[in-house]
Amino acid sequence: MIRKGYSFDDLLLVPRYNDIPSRKDVDLSTEFGPFKLWLPVLSANMDTITGVEMARTMHQLGGLGVLHRFCYIEDNLRMYKEVRSTRNDCIVSLGVNEGLERFEALYDAGAKCFCVDVAHGYTKAVGKFVKLLKRTRSDVFVIAGNVCTHTGADYLASCGADAIKVGIGPGSVCTTRLKTGCGVPQLTAIMDCAKVDRLIIADGGIKTPGDAVKALAAGAHVVMLGGMLAGCDETPGDSIEPAPGHPRWKTFRGMASKEAQEDFMGAMADWKAAEGVQIKVQARGPVKNVIDDLIGGIRSGMTYCGSKNIAALHRNAEFIEVTPNGVHESQPHGDGRL
Ligand code: 5GP
Repeated sequence: MIRKGYSFDDLLLVPRYNDIPSRKDVDLSTEFGPFKLWLPVLSANMDTITGVEMARTMHQLGGLGVLHRFCYIEDNLRMYKEVRSTRNDCIVSLGVNEGLERFEALYDAGAKCFCVDVAHGYTKAVGKFVKLLKRTRSDVFVIAGNVCTHTGADYLASCGADAIKVGIGPGSVCTTRLKTGCGVPQLTAIMDCAKVDRLIIADGGIKTPGDAVKALAAGAHVVMLGGMLAGCDETPGDSIEPAPGHPRWKTFRGMASKEAQEDFMGAMADWKAAEGVQIKVQARGPVKNVIDDLIGGIRSGMTYCGSKNIAALHRNAEFIEVTPNGVHESQPHGDGRL
């Protein structure tokens, strides 16, 4: 039997009775391990999204940044300390190949929340690494991923992961599905993984505030954003000085793109295919503007769903499948064209 998988545009949330007096009364907070998040939003651990400035700003806005790990351990440590030096905090990232070196250095500097981030997280290596972290330091909070199935999420939970990062192939600069033919449409992936009793991070494919509401309604506790934040002032990397009268651009790239692999590994191994792309995005001002619009949408979406908080949204959400005509109807189409 072949199952059907839904992505964000395939479903809408059905509005229901609402007794919340104002959108202001919606509570968006989540207990996230050592952190209390006021907004259910993380910035992605990509080298063109979360460095020091993004991490600080995300924390100040009520979400959290996940610092990228695509640098030497000393530079990672310096970034982490810089974030902490302004009384802000962030999550830090680990891969599985370096062993415990980066983990110990960041732990000694005060980090308590670690994101073990591997493209295909449903593997023995990731499971073993998560177990090792939890055994080495009992007071750490470990996010593990990425997975896109119930069995994958259940495996990581059984290895000790406190939170599960969900998403194989939905990312805005990701080409995994094209290169490998693998993945699960993201709303179905979130729904399946959310059957596991752990915090769920919906990572990838969120392009509008409405997508974020759907991700939360499908069972996520927080959303992780890459593309929606790309081009913001706080993202790392040079912006390209424009010719007079032209817009400014910033680089945004998948961490499995050829360019990123060349920068961090020296070269792309010839047995590997790039599973991401590098693009230029128009500079678009402070991240606060994006987050304000996002949060306004989430608050409103939650009142449409009659849900005062995220736990209620998980209970109350009713999705409906839309046809291609429904997708068209959902877009602005007031230009009078037939
Ligand atoms: P976005 O919010 O841009 O749609 O998705 C961001 C997510 O895409 C990241 O958090 C990460 O999980 C994923 N991602 C980042 N770079 C790559 C890549 O090069 N290839 C793949 N397959 N996924 C990527």
